[in-house]
Amino acid sequence: MAQSYAQLLNKVKQQVREISPRDAMDVVSGSGEYALIDVREPDEYQQGAIATAIHIPRGYLELRIENTVPDHSTPIVLYCAGGVRSALAAATLQDLGYTDVLSLRGGFTEWKNAGLPFAVPKTLSDSQRNRYSRHLLIPEVGEAGQLRLLESKVLLIGAGGLGSPAALYLAAAGVGTLGIVDADVVDESNLQRQILHNATRVGQPKTSSARQTIESLNSDITVIEHNERLVADNVLDIIGPYDVIVDGADNFPTRYLLNDASILTKKPVVHGSIFRFEGQVTVFQPYVGPCYRCIFPEPPPPELAPSCAEAGVLGVLPGIVGSLQASEALKLLLGIGEGLVGRLLLFDALECSFRELRLRRNPECPACGDNATLQEVTDLEYACALPA
Ligand SMILES: [Zn+2]
Repeated sequence: MAQSYAQLLNKVKQQVREISPRDAMDVVSGSGEYALIDVREPDEYQQGAIATAIHIPRGYLELRIENTVPDHSTPIVLYCAGGVRSALAAATLQDLGYTDVLSLRGGFTEWKNAGLPFAVPKTLSDSQRNRYSRHLLIPEVGEAGQLRLLESKVLLIGAGGLGSPAALYLAAAGVGTLGIVDADVVDESNLQRQILHNATRVGQPKTSSARQTIESLNSDITVIEHNERLVADNVLDIIGPYDVIVDGADNFPTRYLLNDASILTKKPVVHGSIFRFEGQVTVFQPYVGPCYRCIFPEPPPPELAPSCAEAGVLGVLPGIVGSLQASEALKLLLGIGEGLVGRLLLFDALECSFRELRLRRNPECPACGDNATLQEVTDLEYACALPA
């Protein structure tokens, strides 16, 4: 039987439990797990909200709640401006099977009147909303994820074959700060694969060329040039400010130095390497999965290291491997998906096939094992036996 709005609201208010602003404050500042959800419209939310709230406008609540709060027994506190929309929303969540749902009595207005804290949330500008619209359409990214990317810092080791596609895609995706370590200048032989650079920049430092390309793609991005080689004296200072490191280094001394520095600072490294038609990608997450030394405790003798010579590579191969590295870096920053921690992905371009090897932590690892003695980083003495 049809019912008037007043009857509906009356029924809902009987069926939904309300919580006072003070009691809600206790929940929000307590140690227990809960989800505080702001169901107001975007323009209301942007003017001020409870700092820990997740914003899901009422119209999207049914669509998004199960991605945001997968466990139906998680306590949920809903609020709107005055307590009506949140009560209706609470009834809907109960219908969806959520067992512990509360509606904030008097809404955000009463919260503010009680003198409780709130903040003006960071939001995307209209232009950013347009630029990143395809991210905003993915629930796993959304506005919160995009804001997180914009505040993230990724360091690229090398602006070469792997660093080029990785930097371009991370910049396009809106990773707000990109650091680039490279001491080389652009050479004509780089242009077969290093798509950050172009023919007019031959002879310029690669970091400068990379910065120009990235800035012309996306002005949201701050590029920090580290126009130097990574050595024991600078590695900890350089990697310190960054959240994730994308390793496109082509030599063993850098790889071992970076591994040890990342263990000491507990920074995840998205590792990639390429040779002729074959590529490898994995993620070294210190103390979660294996590190580089868990697999290769010591560097190979120089004569067995192809990277000392000019190794041949199919021009498109770093595009594939570097793009996979960018994808892993974005997942790490967003905290989503299944990363390549403990898995080595092998790609063969001639066969066009992917294989995967399980990698395990080595309890005897000299860097991250149970009795590891690693306390500082040192440069590897490594003279190439082969002419460069
Ligand atoms: Zn290790």
